[in-house]
Amino acid sequence: MDAVYLHGPGDLRVDDVDRHPVSAGTVAVDIEYTGICGSDLHEYEVGPVPIRAETIDHSIPESDWDEYLPKPMGHEIAGTVSEVGDNVDDVGVGDRVTLNMVIACDDCRYCATGKYHLCEQGDGGVVASRGFADRTVVPASMAVPVPDEVSLRHAALAEPLGVSLRGVRRSSLEPTDRIAVFGAGPIGLGVVAGAAAAGAREICVSEPRAARREAAAALGADVVIDPTVDDAVEEIRRETDRVDVSFECAGTAATLTDALRSTAYGERVVVLSVFEEEVPIHPNDIMQAERELVGSFGFQGGPLVPRSEFATALDYLADGRIDPEPMLTGTVPLEETEATFERLGDPDSDLIKVLVEP
Ligand SMILES: [Zn+2]
Ligand SMILES: [Zn+2]
Repeated sequence: MDAVYLHGPGDLRVDDVDRHPVSAGTVAVDIEYTGICGSDLHEYEVGPVPIRAETIDHSIPESDWDEYLPKPMGHEIAGTVSEVGDNVDDVGVGDRVTLNMVIACDDCRYCATGKYHLCEQGDGGVVASRGFADRTVVPASMAVPVPDEVSLRHAALAEPLGVSLRGVRRSSLEPTDRIAVFGAGPIGLGVVAGAAAAGAREICVSEPRAARREAAAALGADVVIDPTVDDAVEEIRRETDRVDVSFECAGTAATLTDALRSTAYGERVVVLSVFEEEVPIHPNDIMQAERELVGSFGFQGGPLVPRSEFATALDYLADGRIDPEPMLTGTVPLEETEATFERLGDPDSDLIKVLVEP
């Protein structure tokens, strides 16, 4: 069968690969839609990107790439269960599912407390799921049933929306809060939608691409700023006298500092971006203003986490609190995956979230 693999920076191919057989405890899913994630684009840009990996300074040396490449791509998956292995009780053939791809060893100190997204097993590794293909086989525990009200097209967004909702949760947002979001890609837009659903009082968004500013406004932003025209920090200060919470969703040195300086003293900045390189910040922006800089990685989901962000994303899609339509800018067939990666990387492109329909 055909599946998309990364062979190196700028080198994405549709490879002819073996179908994985179903074994005990696993299910096969016929994939309907798989979203192209910012992290997929990031790896297409720079090569395999590790999770945490503090010991190797957050990048895998090129000499070790052989271990990871070719790397199967695509993890924002929705489809229908087509086969189940032995000892699978919770899902059956024909069930509509979306996949919670969190890696968990069930053994480390983080898994023991339900923080599967921080599992040590993930450290230094890469996310390697084969979502840009017409079929995948996964542990049955990863297959999360999709509520009837949610289309599979929207269900493919449960993963990125879970990431955004985790950021909102990490911010401890309150209904009286004014917020700023830097970067209106799919994660930033999910933060806008999630913060609006959580009752944020006023939402400012800074984003250079016009199509993304429009989507932000449609999803609940009150103020949209083009940072190539206006000084985002000045605009936000004028509008809000500094925000109570800001979200860094662009992954650049400028947006990180802007997020800090737009935030009121004593308040919180949440970083959701994966940065492509080390960036300088002035620690005095944290210390002298008593600001908190908080990380938000992935999302919670799994057996010990009944209040997971993944499940919440599906609930919000089901009850209409989040309508992701403004960020969905099309579906493409498998063969057009690489061309679409190229277009998404083009700063003049109007594309936001694109789904591959294998
Ligand atoms: Zn993703
Ligand atoms: Zn673990």
